[in-house]
Amino acid sequence: MGLNSFFTTNRGEKIDNPRYLIKSEEKLAKIQRWHSRKKLKSKNRGKSRLRVAKLYEEITNQRLDFLHKLSTKLIKSFQLIAFEKLNIKRMTRNEYLAKSISDASWGVFLQMLTYKAAEAGIWAVEISSQNTSQTCSGCGNIVPKTLATRKHKCHKCGLKIDRDINAARNILNSALNTVGTTGINACGVGRLLPTMK
Ligand SMILES: [Zn+2]
Repeated sequence: MGLNSFFTTNRGEKIDNPRYLIKSEEKLAKIQRWHSRKKLKSKNRGKSRLRVAKLYEEITNQRLDFLHKLSTKLIKSFQLIAFEKLNIKRMTRNEYLAKSISDASWGVFLQMLTYKAAEAGIWAVEISSQNTSQTCSGCGNIVPKTLATRKHKCHKCGLKIDRDINAARNILNSALNTVGTTGINACGVGRLLPTMK
């Protein structure tokens, strides 16, 4: 599963998780595996537990820093930011640690966007996640896709674009309909769905 990416916008920008963060998280997973093999109560186990805790704190700080900078940048660039409601059910069903970290940081990111938007007096619009990836952003036709389908291809209007950009456009359209405003500088952000292997 591809965990490198963070979000995509309706304009086609894709934001990846920073390289240093991916590296730190890989390092943490390695130490955790090593830690779990140590014998209980041994001196080494105490030492490795300290290393895990220190690295975990370091990663948390790095992540927060990344999320703060990213959310501030969006708030400064747009008057309306639309995003999809976080799917809690999908999160708890998740068994991969790295994936849960990425889900958790997405939740923190949306919280940051929401309070920063309120402070700045701009719109942060949360919309329901129904059909955002299946609907054609060009004509509204439903185009069924599995997670493995990376391209959106509509036989009705002929639109062919990246599936995540199509979803981000739907998120933005839905938010603009909710707010009832047009002609403002607005941005839709969607999660980049992992590439199935
Ligand atoms: Zn279409």
